[in-house]
Amino acid sequence: MLKLKQSDYDEIRHHGEQTYPHECCGILLGIADGEERMVQATVRCHNTRTDSPRNRYHIDPGELVRAQRAAHERGIDIVGFYHSHPDHPALWSQTDFNEAHWIGCSYLITSVEQGRAALTNSFALTGSSEEDKALVDEEVVVES
Ligand SMILES: [Zn+2]
Repeated sequence: MLKLKQSDYDEIRHHGEQTYPHECCGILLGIADGEERMVQATVRCHNTRTDSPRNRYHIDPGELVRAQRAAHERGIDIVGFYHSHPDHPALWSQTDFNEAHWIGCSYLITSVEQGRAALTNSFALTGSSEEDKALVDEEVVVES
């Protein structure tokens, strides 16, 4: 289960609308407790993919390290990642699966249709290694 504040949820969806027709991407910071992840902050990242920014995203490793350091200073951690799917369903692609390496984290996807944020779904990366990892549907709870 992924819990978000309404403001963080809106911010993620808004980010996807702003970068449309390109994908947006970012990092979710918070606290993980078993299968439950509570988001306390979101970090916008630049999509460093210039070859096909409409259907690929890549977070700059430097941005990732900075986000992790900032989280640790606040006593929280990276609990997930988000990106948008411009004019595509809010379901993970084979590329998303191949590039998902953070087991125990959430992968949040927002579909953006004609520039408007539509569905937002989250998938938990489960398993113990690259060999048996899986992206599993998880509930998204938005708290006002
Ligand atoms: Zn994707």
